[in-house]
Amino acid sequence: MSVDLVWLRQDLRLADNPLFGGPLDEHLLCVYVLDERWLADGRLGSARLGFLWQCLIELRGCLLAQGSDLLVRLGDPADEVAKLVASEGAGRVRVRHDPGWEEVRAVDRLRHRLANECRVEVLESGMLFSSASLPLAIEALPAGFSAFRRKMREMVPQRGIPAPVTLPPWPPSAPRGLPALRRVCPRADRWRASPRGGFRFTGGEAAGRARLDDYLWGSGAVSHYAHTRNGLVGADFSSRLSPWLAHGCVSAAQVNDALHAWETEHGDSESSRWLRFELLWREYFHWAARQDGRTLYGRETAPLGGDAFAAWCRGETGLPFVDAGMRELADTGWLSNRARQNVASFLVHDLNVDWRLGAAWFERCLIDYDAASNWGNWGYIAGRGRHVRAHRFEVLDQAECYDPHGDYAVRWCPELSSLPAGEARHRPWRHAPATFPPPLAPSTR
Ligand SMILES: Cc1cc2nc3c(=O)[nH]c(=O)nc-3n(C[C@H](O)[C@H](O)[C@H](O)COP(=O)(O)OP(=O)(O)OC[C@H]3O[C@@H](n4cnc5c(N)ncnc54)[C@H](O)[C@@H]3O)c2cc1C
Repeated sequence: MSVDLVWLRQDLRLADNPLFGGPLDEHLLCVYVLDERWLADGRLGSARLGFLWQCLIELRGCLLAQGSDLLVRLGDPADEVAKLVASEGAGRVRVRHDPGWEEVRAVDRLRHRLANECRVEVLESGMLFSSASLPLAIEALPAGFSAFRRKMREMVPQRGIPAPVTLPPWPPSAPRGLPALRRVCPRADRWRASPRGGFRFTGGEAAGRARLDDYLWGSGAVSHYAHTRNGLVGADFSSRLSPWLAHGCVSAAQVNDALHAWETEHGDSESSRWLRFELLWREYFHWAARQDGRTLYGRETAPLGGDAFAAWCRGETGLPFVDAGMRELADTGWLSNRARQNVASFLVHDLNVDWRLGAAWFERCLIDYDAASNWGNWGYIAGRGRHVRAHRFEVLDQAECYDPHGDYAVRWCPELSSLPAGEARHRPWRHAPATFPPPLAPSTR
């Protein structure tokens, strides 16, 4: 009996997933391993874990429909995969090249453990471009986004590939299924996003495709993207595709293909071009993370938290625009790009707190966390690592520009609702006593 093992990570979809492409062996074993350390050290928060579980449940349904299945394990990913290779006699492991340092190391460890026993195939997926098609070697990637963009100007993104029609059967003796979330992490099972966010994220490939369809063809909100993308309140000011892209429920190539189809009917516009431009930022941070390796996360010493950091996490800095953002993040697991930039800049440049603490807090809270985009954007704002220049946002000016009536501030800080609309709602204020537990200092990588 010959077995292929597909080790799924941030590629939780069937369509446009090369792990399921090409000739596969007689039997197929599909595995996801939740790294127990992420639960133990708190870096995987309830919101993201809940979303992830929805993705896994949906993916299992899709795999079953194709004649396969999914096994979800908890533990050290490389160890668990190695054990399954041994017990099922797999001859090949397929895994996506995830850009995070630990993800790369996990594959190296697996290779080392399996030595000549089994072939480990690392495939690229989820991106607009493949490394082979880049006009430069990854080691020669320019430090800044603008230079990268100029180099990519003539490049045509790859097209998505369809989902497989059928998949090889499950190895007869292999375990199946996934544990209930309430057993893995009861607090994540109980977690619900606040309806104040005005949007409900549901994990999985079907929900991701539905959001893409709705944003393009349903509401047609994409046609206003260039003018609304800095929005703060509402469901459609931006695509909100990030959680599905981060977990790989949809790929960047699929988004680009859909955008292309939309442009064929509606003509290309400033808005559709701008959305594609944002996907290029994602691309840049992903390739940059591959080039940066461990340095993406900053120095090796553990950063120290303090009162200012704890107040920032709780949304109690006294700056309404910042507090609103931090509360939205905690209560929904998501935040607009404009708010992310401001809360990050405030932490680093106004509170003078180590940027790595902020990045680690985002890692815990965001449902769309992805190592490359998160640590890359934080480094960009802090001016660390590959980013020679820091990016500071004047929070009060930004509040007046993007939240002129203070509606966003009041939405998340209802204590301010008695103040007249406008500038009064942006002034520094005294917050109520702490209501959230103080955060832990994150571990180093
Ligand atoms: C401090 C900070 C941390 C961030 N952490 C993350 C993260 O962990 N995961 C994440 O996906 N994005 C992160 N971003 C980028 C960006 O804020 C989000 O991708 C975006 O807000 C998601 O909303 P959207 O899907 O509606 O984006 P849209 O504006 O609709 O853009 C479409 C897609 O383009 C990509 N994109 C847009 N802007 C960026 C950007 N600056 N960097 C990388 N990709 C981008 C995303 O995949 C996004 O889904 C971070 C930004 C900052 C400033």
